[in-house]
Amino acid sequence: MNRILKKAAVIGSGVMGSRIACHLANAGLQVILLDIIPFELSEEELQNGIAVTNPKFRNRIVNSSLLNAIKSNPSPIYKKSFQQRIQTGNLEDDMSMIADCDWVIEAVVERLDIKQKVYSQIESHRKRGSILSTNTSGIPISILANHMSDEMKTHFIGTHFFNPPRYLQLLEVIPHIKTDPEIAAFMLEFGRKIVGKTTVLCKDTPAFIANRVGVFSIMALFHEMENFDFSISEIDKLTGPIIGRPKSATFRTCDVVGIDTLAKVALGVKEHCPNDEKNEVFKLPDFLEGMVSQNLFGDKTKQGFYKKTLVDGKKEILGLNLKTLTYEKTERPKLEALDLVKNEEDLKKRIRILAGGADKVGDFYRKHFFGVFGYASNRIPEIADNCYQIDDAMKAGFGWELGPFEIWDILGVENSLQLMAVYGIKPAIWVEEMIKSGYKNFYQYSSGSVSYYDISSKSYKSIDGKKDFIFLQSYSSNIVWQNSGSILYDLGDGILNLEFKTKMNTMGGEVLQGISKSIGIAEKDFSGLVIANEAQNFSVGANLGMVFMFAIEQDWDELNMAIRQFQKTVLRARYSNIPVVVAPRGMTLGGGCELSLHADRLQFAAESYIGLVETGVGVIPAGGGTKELAKRFSNSIQNGDIELNRLQNTFLNVAMAKVSTSAHEAYDLGYMQAADRISINPHAQIADAKALCLQLATEGYTQPIPEKIKVLGKSALALFTAGIFGMKQGRFISDHDAKVASKLAYALSGGDLSQPQEVTETYMLDLEREAFLSLCGEKKTLERMQSLLKTGKIIRN
Ligand code: NAD
Repeated sequence: MNRILKKAAVIGSGVMGSRIACHLANAGLQVILLDIIPFELSEEELQNGIAVTNPKFRNRIVNSSLLNAIKSNPSPIYKKSFQQRIQTGNLEDDMSMIADCDWVIEAVVERLDIKQKVYSQIESHRKRGSILSTNTSGIPISILANHMSDEMKTHFIGTHFFNPPRYLQLLEVIPHIKTDPEIAAFMLEFGRKIVGKTTVLCKDTPAFIANRVGVFSIMALFHEMENFDFSISEIDKLTGPIIGRPKSATFRTCDVVGIDTLAKVALGVKEHCPNDEKNEVFKLPDFLEGMVSQNLFGDKTKQGFYKKTLVDGKKEILGLNLKTLTYEKTERPKLEALDLVKNEEDLKKRIRILAGGADKVGDFYRKHFFGVFGYASNRIPEIADNCYQIDDAMKAGFGWELGPFEIWDILGVENSLQLMAVYGIKPAIWVEEMIKSGYKNFYQYSSGSVSYYDISSKSYKSIDGKKDFIFLQSYSSNIVWQNSGSILYDLGDGILNLEFKTKMNTMGGEVLQGISKSIGIAEKDFSGLVIANEAQNFSVGANLGMVFMFAIEQDWDELNMAIRQFQKTVLRARYSNIPVVVAPRGMTLGGGCELSLHADRLQFAAESYIGLVETGVGVIPAGGGTKELAKRFSNSIQNGDIELNRLQNTFLNVAMAKVSTSAHEAYDLGYMQAADRISINPHAQIADAKALCLQLATEGYTQPIPEKIKVLGKSALALFTAGIFGMKQGRFISDHDAKVASKLAYALSGGDLSQPQEVTETYMLDLEREAFLSLCGEKKTLERMQSLLKTGKIIRN
């Protein structure tokens, strides 16, 4: 039977419930959100004569929670209008609203009695066959199910979202012993395909997978740091992006999560897992106990391991001295061993170098990595059946780029086993057996698929639910061409994929060469080209360092050539005889956005932050971006349209360097078109882009013919000029902002032509390039560029 899930109810609208409701609305579901009625009327309600029968009072908790969630930053919702998909109510008057829901999610306070009371209410209203799940982070699912009817028990399951649900990729799916296996299988697939999450099947064990291993890793670091005598900022430096973990590393992450929550999970594991061989690690060190008793909970009490403060009117971040529990100035950590990997972009190579060091830092990494390897391996089969479930949970739940078993593969499993013995760390027997049977790695990457070492069959198996995804790493034997900044893979079925490989995927000469070369190869021997990567960001734009260097040396010919080259490359993408599909994700800025604007189709990741941000560094989009927006405006003009107003919106978006906060918003900004698509699951994006490209090729793609662009000339320019003057007079913008905006206005209007008329693309490209070049001769533009390059900050001057 096909299970259809269109409508969901979320019970409990707190931190998690309100945000889960928003994310389900993001996924296109109709959502009911319910919470309790307040205990009494507020002062304000009394003053306004609101009666206890008034829905304003009865739904106050749910409505204000939802409003607060939507107003919070970062937003839980892709687009404000999606809020209309959520209907609110309360648990006394509106339980009948759940009667036609296909999925009911309980997200009320973490108390067994309250949760069970809510289930009995749900039981009398839900439709038979609908799924009931709990978001509990700690109470065993089997205990929660205790008093349910048999029918509801079989439809009951844990669905553990992480906070914030929109942004954290992990959804742990936890069946209990009576859960119908069909429900678990459905939830794993629905969560992956429709909700866009990395779903991981967990066992009903304390803290499930991610928190069990993640909190072990943190607690182990707490104990180890004393032996190594590192400060908290040094540990954060050692355990952050340098080894593929989030910027917040260890201690900042604890502050964000909450020290109270961390302590609760650790103590929960300590109490409920007496046979855990590392049970002692979950004991709170003295400093953590001290922090809990002094309410140093992190961000929620505004002080934890770090504390923001004002010193002589300047913001400063102080760090906690773990011996005295007092705050001190934090010094920038200086660890010479890290210089060895300063210029190493490849994470795997960095990890090998760092863990191979002969000094204290190398010793620290070995001890830490080996400890986590040992612990994770010993949790199989207790918390998961196979290694990939633990790796997936750590990557999606804790933001690690690589899971423990993937790192173990990088360091070499066999070598590490010998070294681990030296450190007194004992991994699980199955790992030794794996090596003895001749299997040297946990994972195998080949001909487009990833397989893992399956313990029960003692062989490599492909990963359930990942068969439809494309992981570029597994195409390393299908490389068609590469240079220092890009790699071209053959994805099969006649489709190529170009991946950028530069820092933050900036687009310099080597990437532009990669694009042109790939199009040439595809035109000759293939059916289509996808330009996509798996990094966090598609591209932060053109290589600003190079532009700055030419500008400072006043090498205008070189700069002119470089911009021309960029324009030629994006036009090549536009006018090739094969379909080109670009896959924006994360930051897709400046040049990255301009390339996207020239693709035949875009396959966005839902989390795409796309925009033309050039004015921030004192120039205008000149890689075809200004021209392309003028062209889109020209193509969209219909009789009776208020032409100028529409063009003005485009002008404002670029002048104010607006960036979308999701792919759905990109549509409103004009960077996405109706035929473009969105992948809610980022791991599905490349496969989706390939399918789209293949579809275009199969349908019979023909090379587009350059079209004329209708520009408005003086009439648009006059409007923009008046607007810029007003903003300047009102001191909303600086003199230099006004200068940049005027250049943009000129290029977007098609110059000061006396009346609207059609012009060529080349004419428009010349206008934007001239504007760019002239702005590069401005001192204030150079100051803006220098600031971004040196400090990463945009200045307004
Ligand atoms: P919260 O305190 O923010 O919200 C709890 C909600 O329960 C509130 O809306 C409250 O009105 C409602 N509630 C209180 N008493 C009730 C009652 N008697 N009957 C029905 N509802 C009642 O909590 P939260 O952080 O949103 O956590 C909700 C669930 O999600 C918990 O099980 C928690 O363990 C789990 N969880 C939380 C996080 C997190 O980071 N906050 C992460 C993962 C899972």
